[in-house]
Amino acid sequence: MRALVIANWKMNPPTFREARGLFEATRKAAERSRGVTLVVAPPVIFLRPLSALYKGKRIAFALQGGHWEKAGAQTGEISMAQAQDARASYIIVGHSESRARGETNEDTRKKVAAALALKLTPILCVGERQRDQGGAHFTIVSEQLRAVFGELTATQAARVIVAYEPIWAIGGEESMSPRDMHEMAIFIRKSIVDLLGQGSMSVKIIYGGAATEENATAMLAGGDVVGLLVGHVSVDSKRFAALLSAISKSVV
Ligand code: PEP
Repeated sequence: MRALVIANWKMNPPTFREARGLFEATRKAAERSRGVTLVVAPPVIFLRPLSALYKGKRIAFALQGGHWEKAGAQTGEISMAQAQDARASYIIVGHSESRARGETNEDTRKKVAAALALKLTPILCVGERQRDQGGAHFTIVSEQLRAVFGELTATQAARVIVAYEPIWAIGGEESMSPRDMHEMAIFIRKSIVDLLGQGSMSVKIIYGGAATEENATAMLAGGDVVGLLVGHVSVDSKRFAALLSAISKSVV
């Protein structure tokens, strides 16, 4: 099965010149990597010029975040329709960094609904800030899922990708263990099936949080996930090429 890799560039790199160089290196690495579906989420200002440069089919583009309204008085925002016009076909929703700036579960619900209406694929990020023995992380994830999936049909749910991202792992070098991810994947699937029935069993789950060239294949093999959301390693062209190559060798 193909692995899905989302390269979340966040607010990097500082210039378009560097973005073009990074994209070129990413494109070459993607072309050498069979068995990987790659989605690049650049800063929105680079989206249209990069997608205009790219003539291939291996790479799709994502918006890192966007408003649910199509147009209107929303200073500083970008609409999903505008991003789609610039060739984005995915959108990241509910990233912990957006939630930290105020994105609520209700916002994620509206964003996923708007994305689905436009036939964009939403990548819904869920995850807890910290873990303790009491299992509060399950409650947090379950509420984040309920806010979105509680309003969808099973058919719509099948078009949503759930990215489980434990916030405590993001930005570091050590991911969660595949075994713990496996447990969380079962929980996520059960939570969605409880809301929508067996028809939603096939929801796609990916992992994010310090995914690196060292741990990517173990996570894909043992974490019960179909892909990875990659942050800082995706803006280091050598490391990202190594990550894609490792995945490619393990899935083909
Ligand atoms: C992220 O923020 O979505 C992420 C996965 O970051 P990193 O890979 O840097 O942990």
